Amino acid sequence: MRVIAALKIRIRHMKDKATGSLDRRDFVIASLATVGASAAFAATAGAAAAEDQTASPPPTGTAYTGDLIGGKKVISALDVGDLDPGKKHAFYFQGVQMPTGQHWYVSVMVAKGAKPGKRIALVSGVHGDEISPVRTIQTVMDRLDPAEMSGVVLAVLDVSRPALEGMARRWPNSGRGIDLIDINREWPGNENGASAPSRHAGLLFNRLLKANADYAIDFHTSATGMDMAAFHLARMDLPEVRDMALLFPIDQIFDSPGYPGLLANAFIDAGIPAFTPEIGAPRILDLSMIPLFVEGTMNVLKHHGIIGGPMGRRPRYGRFRREQRAPRSCDPRRVRRASRRAERQGRDRAEGRHPAEYIR
Ligand SMILES: [Zn+2]
Repeated sequence: MRVIAALKIRIRHMKDKATGSLDRRDFVIASLATVGASAAFAATAGAAAAEDQTASPPPTGTAYTGDLIGGKKVISALDVGDLDPGKKHAFYFQGVQMPTGQHWYVSVMVAKGAKPGKRIALVSGVHGDEISPVRTIQTVMDRLDPAEMSGVVLAVLDVSRPALEGMARRWPNSGRGIDLIDINREWPGNENGASAPSRHAGLLFNRLLKANADYAIDFHTSATGMDMAAFHLARMDLPEVRDMALLFPIDQIFDSPGYPGLLANAFIDAGIPAFTPEIGAPRILDLSMIPLFVEGTMNVLKHHGIIGGPMGRRPRYGRFRREQRAPRSCDPRRVRRASRRAERQGRDRAEGRHPAEYIR
């Protein structure tokens, strides 16, 4: 609050000068200062409301809003226990309400096995410029026959629709409209948070994901402007995460918790083993890498007894390196140092690429 009060004084002071109104340069300064203040406010509000979050009761039962979009029922809460077994189901989940009064909707598919068993959530579209993850999950869902399954596969395909529409990593903010928010630093979100992405994350985490998953995989790629090899970001110190991560026919695992606010970390904090596969470059369908991650995901479903059949390929090399913790900032000097270190340690010389440590 003190920041905002100081700001008002500063703006009033600028107005009083010379012309009595804001000139263009001062307006820019005032706008930038306000962005800083709203970020500070958001951080404070986020921390305060995180306490409310733990107190909110878990959703009970699937809630249908009564709306239909493209023939699909709209839900505001999901309980896969309510759904008919031995079938595939498709919904739109009603996400955050925007200033126009309309919501961002999220595509949800559920393959519910004829028999009970483990439940796994597959997530894509947390970043809107990462396309291969969406196709990876679609391919897995196409291959499932619920009549033969034991357990549930929950697919949540386009978490950040406003980012996907612009093939952008981050959400536009509905505040002053000039700052962007990375929802993958917001999880588990806050239904009463200060920004739309925080509220959206809270709704999805509480009413769609947490109550319907025993395990989770959040698929990503590198960010726009970059390219990367196929790898996982995974906590290899967690045995259940390690078991799943080692079932993919890829060569590298970045053994790191990454940043606070990642969806995989929110799952882990909620007692749901989770990790983050990274499927190469953004903005494209990488048709050489997608099959590796489809095969690995099918292996994970076999590992948990959700589907039958023989295991597919595993990693080509059984050797993984514990990397240093990722730098907290994207300061260019630190990034260059990290990049040189990764090159020294790099094991993926075949394509001359290495996982840049600072991206998820
Ligand atoms: Zn991402």
